[in-house]
Amino acid sequence: MDNCIFCKIVARQISSKPIYEDEELIAFHDIRPAAAIHFLIVPKEHIPTLASCNEQHQALLGKMMLLAPKLAQEHGCGYQANGDAVGSGGFKTQFNIGPDGGQEVYHLHLHVLGGPRLRHG
Ligand code: AMP
Ligand code: ZN
Repeated sequence: MDNCIFCKIVARQISSKPIYEDEELIAFHDIRPAAAIHFLIVPKEHIPTLASCNEQHQALLGKMMLLAPKLAQEHGCGYQANGDAVGSGGFKTQFNIGPDGGQEVYHLHLHVLGGPRLRHG
């Protein structure tokens, strides 16, 4: 999509330092972190918001959710219920949807926030 900042990141028209990439997803650090650890998991396909998703996106959404704890673990905020996680206290995942949901970028993305006791929404 023209003028979509995340499509431009996917197309490498804007630089970012991906922390993960495959054929469907890219993840990178948020430019304005709201926590010590704050990254975004973004589908390469331009989907405006979670509310635009349908059954066709079910597997993609599941993949995004399952990637969150994996990357959180790699970035020092993982959590395992059995207490084996290393250097970690857990993290928060968040989709912002629409103006009242605080969405600024209308290209679907999952926030992952971690680090010492979070103070964000
Ligand atoms: P949201 O409010 O859910 O739409 O969140 C959009 C997020 O994208 C915000 O937290 C921004 O800081 C972040 N963001 C915007 N532009 C960039 C960029 N070029 N690289 C990384 N993160 C960005
Ligand atoms: Zn886009």
